[in-house]
Amino acid sequence: MKVYKFGGASVRSADGVRNLANILSMSKDKLFVVVSAMGKTTNALEDVLDSYMQSRPAQALEKMETVKTYHLDIIGQLFADVQVGKNAVEPVFAELEAVLSAPIDAEYDKAYDRIVSYGELISTRIISTYLNECGIQNQWLDMRAVLQTDSNFREANIYMEESADRLRQAMDRQPAAIYIGQGFIGGNTQGHPTTLGREGSDYTAAVVANLLNAESVTIWKDVPGILNADPRIFPDTIHIPELTYYDAVELAYSGAQVIHPKTIKPLENKHIPLFVKPFEHPEACGSVIKASTAHPIDVPVLILRKNQILITVRPRDFSFVLEDGLSTMFTILHKHRLKISLIQSSAVTISVCVDNTRYVEDALSELHNKFKVTYNDQLELLTIRGVTPEIIARTTGNREILLMQKTRRTARFLMKSRTQTC
Ligand code: ASP
Ligand code: MG
Repeated sequence: MKVYKFGGASVRSADGVRNLANILSMSKDKLFVVVSAMGKTTNALEDVLDSYMQSRPAQALEKMETVKTYHLDIIGQLFADVQVGKNAVEPVFAELEAVLSAPIDAEYDKAYDRIVSYGELISTRIISTYLNECGIQNQWLDMRAVLQTDSNFREANIYMEESADRLRQAMDRQPAAIYIGQGFIGGNTQGHPTTLGREGSDYTAAVVANLLNAESVTIWKDVPGILNADPRIFPDTIHIPELTYYDAVELAYSGAQVIHPKTIKPLENKHIPLFVKPFEHPEACGSVIKASTAHPIDVPVLILRKNQILITVRPRDFSFVLEDGLSTMFTILHKHRLKISLIQSSAVTISVCVDNTRYVEDALSELHNKFKVTYNDQLELLTIRGVTPEIIARTTGNREILLMQKTRRTARFLMKSRTQTC
């Protein structure tokens, strides 16, 4: 059994879905295929949720119609008999419509998982039905019933043993050569949908591979494999054909968007290799991440994490902040699901850098209750592994640097964003 994962960018259009079908048709192995929501659907559903939670049901339904039109358009281009495609998604949209028409009965995070999980349910319904229409027989699985999680909504933790049993049972009940399941979603013990954290479909693929003792995982992406830098930002990128799990965790943590940081652990546990392959060129070799490599990375690696905010707190009474300020601050950031990308402290201040998401505002106001808080936004965090003075000069140029950390091999620079408007 091999696990394949296709992200939202790969299945954002009818052509993308046709290409997915083409890739599956070339495989001779039993496959478990994990699919994300199409294109930017998750963001669109977050907007739907916001309107719903602000008690604006008409606006929420209107935004849902836009999501529906987008999917129906893809269906229109994909299916010879459009009605077959419509029949696959109409019940799912009807369910979502019923949710949005009912009064709010849950707090934000729980409602988030109920509503935002529809993105993957819709994409997998379309893709599974389309593949069957093309003669690529497959079985759709509902990952809300398979991946059992706790109730930590928006970042649920998977119960591995329970999920392994459920997955085996679901597959034994419905034998197939190809299974199609949703990335990013699971369900708690009460049967309520949960989500695993943004961009969590890579993690789903890794967990499924672990549960099934799969031979390998392949993430199909719109890149040639893993490069030493993002080609949209840095010229002259170099392809890295092999990396260790350790390298991959470091890169992912620094903000390399090629894989989700949580992906590696379930694979490393069982020594399952992870291939990153170009969706547009399935015959190319891409990159592989595995336990060890005879070819350690010998080129500098540059990772730019955009849209960062640097938050600095100091106790109101000049007490030493590290004594208990640190844990208070981390608890607040954790509660708002903010991931720390850099930390720096002095006797009376702690500074952390996090992704500037829509949840930062709430975290800041909670921090204000405990500390004096200042922040700088519109920042970028550049991490350079295998650092040399020339690379520093070339990449940071004459940009304003707010904070810098350097070890022997790695340097990190927090800089004003280039696109800054003020
Ligand atoms: N659709 C989810 C997201 O956009 C999960 C994923 O794409 O991996 O965050
Ligand atoms: Mg995605």
